[in-house]
Amino acid sequence: MSNEAIIFMGPPGAGKGTQANNLCKDRELHHLSTGDMLRDHIKRETDLGKQAQSLMDAGELVPDDVIIGMVRSKIEEMEQGKTRILFDGFPRTTAQADALAALLDEFSIPLHCVLLLQADEEEIVARLLKRAVEQGRKDDNEETIRNRMSVYRKQTQPLVEYYTEKGNLKEINGMGTLDEVYGRIKEAL
Ligand code: ADP
Repeated sequence: MSNEAIIFMGPPGAGKGTQANNLCKDRELHHLSTGDMLRDHIKRETDLGKQAQSLMDAGELVPDDVIIGMVRSKIEEMEQGKTRILFDGFPRTTAQADALAALLDEFSIPLHCVLLLQADEEEIVARLLKRAVEQGRKDDNEETIRNRMSVYRKQTQPLVEYYTEKGNLKEINGMGTLDEVYGRIKEAL
């Protein structure tokens, strides 16, 4: 299978993680989640992890250059000609989107589409608070959740227009059962 990139966007708690796993299996995509990569750095106590920790705990974004460097090394590690990637939680700012466009161009990876998973804010907060109990993530308390939503609105929401203008954005209704939502994703592709 040839190179392909899909971007998976949506507010925190819209259910991206679960759906991303399904999609990666079905389309043989490598799941590149910047949130997971950062949590791995924190676990391994790397310098990058130490730099990211307090920002993540507060629900703020990690600086663009750090994130872009991390994504670039990941793409470089992958076998050329077989770079099939689902970007989850990246890009989150216009600067990251511009950097990604340049990377995709450099590595000859066509952008298949951008999926935007939508969910209602109260439902999202409820989901995240539930996840806090299940997984014990430090940034899943109500105050941080509200801040992550506000950061999303201010810094990431503008990308909806960015990709709509490019003509490859597909909006997915994220409400309903996992199977229902996944059905809509498959249809959009
Ligand atoms: P969620 O989508 O539920 O907020 P993520 O796992 O995607 O969770 O991200 C967790 C945190 O990691 C974010 O709040 C942010 O601090 C940091 N992070 C993840 N991806 C990025 C990114 N692309 N740019 C900046 N910060 C990021």
